[in-house]
Amino acid sequence: MFPGAMDYRISKRAASLSPSLTLAITAKAKELRAAGEDVIGLGAGEPDFDTPDHIKAAAVQALADGFTKYTPAAGTPELRAAVARKFERENNLQYDPQQIIVSCGGKHSCYNVILATCEEGDEVVIPAPYWLSYPEMVTLAGATPVIVETTDATEFKLTPDQLRAAITDRTRLFIFNSPSNPTGSVYTPDEVRALGDVCVEKGVLIMSDEIYEKLLYGDAVFQSVAACSPEHQAHTIIVHGLAKAYSMTGWRIGFTAAPLPIAKAISAIQSHSTSNPTSFAQSGAVQALDGPQDHIAEWMTEFSKRRAFAHEQLNAMPGITCVNAQGAFYLFPNISSTGMKSAEFCERLLSEAKVAAVPGVAFGSDDYLRISYATSMGNLEKALERLREFVQKVESEK
Ligand SMILES: *Cc1c(COP(=O)(O)O)cnc(C)c1O
Repeated sequence: MFPGAMDYRISKRAASLSPSLTLAITAKAKELRAAGEDVIGLGAGEPDFDTPDHIKAAAVQALADGFTKYTPAAGTPELRAAVARKFERENNLQYDPQQIIVSCGGKHSCYNVILATCEEGDEVVIPAPYWLSYPEMVTLAGATPVIVETTDATEFKLTPDQLRAAITDRTRLFIFNSPSNPTGSVYTPDEVRALGDVCVEKGVLIMSDEIYEKLLYGDAVFQSVAACSPEHQAHTIIVHGLAKAYSMTGWRIGFTAAPLPIAKAISAIQSHSTSNPTSFAQSGAVQALDGPQDHIAEWMTEFSKRRAFAHEQLNAMPGITCVNAQGAFYLFPNISSTGMKSAEFCERLLSEAKVAAVPGVAFGSDDYLRISYATSMGNLEKALERLREFVQKVESEK
C-alpha cells in the first residue's frame, strides 16, 4: 500500500470550514520576518503580560506533588467549586458545582455548548462582527448560523428588534459576547436585559461568552444576562475562562455554567473527546480565581493608555473613523473610505507598511479591521505611524 492508492476524502463537516484568514496573515508576517523584514504585529488575540507568579507557583507545586494523572472529566471538584464561588461572589449567581464544567479553554467550552444544544435544522443567531469561531462551530455541529449585521453607527450593538426579527421557530441559540472581540463594545445592563427578555419570551437559549468580563474601561459595567432574573439564568449558558484576565492563553482552561441537563450533556461529550482538562493547569486555575486580583487593575491602567493613544491616532487618519472600545483590548476602525475591502487593505498594509492586522471580513464585517493593542506602547506608536503613512499614500493615489 502506498499513499497514492489511498482515498484521502475529507468529511463534509471538515471540508465546510473556511480556512482561517487570521492564520494566513500570521503566516505571511512570519515569512516576512524570516526574510529579515521588521514587521509589527497588531493581530495578537492575547494579553502581552505574563501569567501572575502566584498562579504559576500553584501549578508548579501541583506538579511537584505528583498531581499529574487524569482528573474527573468535568474538572476537579476544587476548581468547579472555585468557579461556583466566583459566580456567587462576583455576579450574585448561584450555581451548584455540578452545573460547572471545566474544559480545555473557553473556545472548547463554546464548542461543547454548541455540540450539546444544536443539531441539523437548528438556527443559531450570531450578531456580526462576531468572534470568528462561532459560525464555524455552529456549522461543525450541523446547525445553521444566522448572521445579523451591526455597524459602528450603533457601536456594533444588536437591538432587541433586530434580535426578535432574526428569531424563527427553528432558532435554538443566540450567541452573545460582551465585552466583544473584535469590537470592544460593551452592552449596558439595560441593553443586556432587553436582549435577554426577547430570548425568554421566545424560548431561545443564550450562550453568553463572558471571557472579557473584567477588561472594562471608564464607566463601563459588566452585566451577565444570567444575573438579570432566575428566568434569564434558566435560559443562559455562560462560557468563560482564564485566558484573558489572567493571561493564561496557553494553559487551556475555560469553564461553562449551565442548566443541569446541559451541563451533564457537556460532561458526557467531554468524557469521550478530551477527557479532563490538564490536571496541574486546573490547580493553577483555582489560585487564579481564589487568589489576589491586583494584577488586573495594573494591566487595565496600561491597556487604558494604549487604547486612548490608538483611538486618537486612528481618528486623526484621513478618512478613518473608530468607535472607542469600552472593554477587551481591540479597536475596530472603519476603513471603507479607502475604497478597499478589508482583506486587500490588510494584505497591502502588511506588504507595503509591514504592519499585520486582522481584516474585518474574518469577523463578518468587511468595512473594518481589527487592531489589538496587546503590544508594547513602543510597538503601537511605530505601527500606527506606519498605518498613518499607508492611509495617506492610499488617499493620495485616489
Ligand atoms: C479568547 C476568547 C475565548 C477563549 O479563548 P481560550 O483561549 O480558548 O480560553 C473565547 N471567546 C472569545 C470571544 C475570545 O476572544
